[in-house]
Amino acid sequence: MMKNRKLLMIPGPIEFTPDVLRAMGMPTTSHVAANFIDVFGQALENTRKVFLASGGQPFVVAGSGTLAMDMAAANLVERGDKALVVNTGYFSDRFAKILERYGATVTHVHAREVGDAPGTQEVEGALDSVKPKLMTITHVDTSTGIAMDVKALAALGRKHNVLVVVDGVCATAGEEMRQEEWGIDVALTASQKAIGVPPGLALVVAGSRAMDAFRRRSAPVSNYYADWNEWLPIMQAYEGRRPSYFATPAVNLVWALNVSLKEILAEGMDARFARHRKLSGAFKSALTALGLRQVPKRPQLCATTLSAIFYPDGVDRTLLKYIDEAGVIVAGGLHPAIRDQYFRVGHMGAVSPSDIIATLSAIESGLKRAGYKFEAGAGVAAAQEHLG
Ligand code: PMP
Repeated sequence: MMKNRKLLMIPGPIEFTPDVLRAMGMPTTSHVAANFIDVFGQALENTRKVFLASGGQPFVVAGSGTLAMDMAAANLVERGDKALVVNTGYFSDRFAKILERYGATVTHVHAREVGDAPGTQEVEGALDSVKPKLMTITHVDTSTGIAMDVKALAALGRKHNVLVVVDGVCATAGEEMRQEEWGIDVALTASQKAIGVPPGLALVVAGSRAMDAFRRRSAPVSNYYADWNEWLPIMQAYEGRRPSYFATPAVNLVWALNVSLKEILAEGMDARFARHRKLSGAFKSALTALGLRQVPKRPQLCATTLSAIFYPDGVDRTLLKYIDEAGVIVAGGLHPAIRDQYFRVGHMGAVSPSDIIATLSAIESGLKRAGYKFEAGAGVAAAQEHLG
């Protein structure tokens, strides 16, 4: 009998390491057991290291990435505040809706077309004219595979004295991000992507300017569960190795998070960013060799955590079924304007060169079944060449 297991190559949830999965299956401890308090304390210290934010305040709570966005908005926005959304697609739209829910007036800076990114000059123009309190940037927009130049945009935020909030849900711990050095006030993500832990944790790291802005609020935070007034003493207690309670932490997920963060730090952040660049480069050179076009218009716009690929002429989403039957699960389109025209492949976290090769081989076999004409093996060969 053959192993009945498929390779999960979607932009989250991703494949997790055996040690992370083992932590999920351990007998659950009390949330105030001494060994759990120590693990949560370590996980918070390690979160800071993975975000490269030595002076940041981490918040790790049960919830998904949307809760992390909600937490940032709930604690920083007051009714009547102005916010700028650097809009690259589906999840930037979501951030705008959340900001509006808390009473912000939102201005968007859009790209001229799908597959492009808003330009730095347009963002600077909007910062000049709108004078917002905060700006949001989707580091990697999962709907288009576009990565923003967060370093340059955060520098603009600093210049204009605007709070910079980065949605790193499809980026953090894969795509290069240096929270403190780049001047990012709030960076947030979820567990199920490059952080490498099953879905269920929201991770937010707030820098000192964000915490100051939060402390200067005049109105109470209008979200009960996400309120930093409730969570700050809890996070401080875990780091101080003291028992505390506001809302029950996701105990097994926190154990798993600590395992994953240690694995990430053992690899080293620079090595991890470089591995994502290399594997993504290999995958993308294979796409080009197969004659496939990507959604981002220019190579500089491409994320390293996923690829968004147009179906070639004559091929539709049946391709996904063929790729699945060849043993690999990839994702369909998400951006409403082009939803049926493309598919997405996630390659982040613990992904290995052999995962990349296996995925390309499954894509090639799917393309062949779909009747697409190409030189068999060209994608795999290009990737191998790139991997060296
Ligand atoms: N932002 C981005 C960039 C995302 O990719 C996602 C999830 N795909 C989210 C936010 C929302 O996260 P979640 O689905 O965990 O709520």
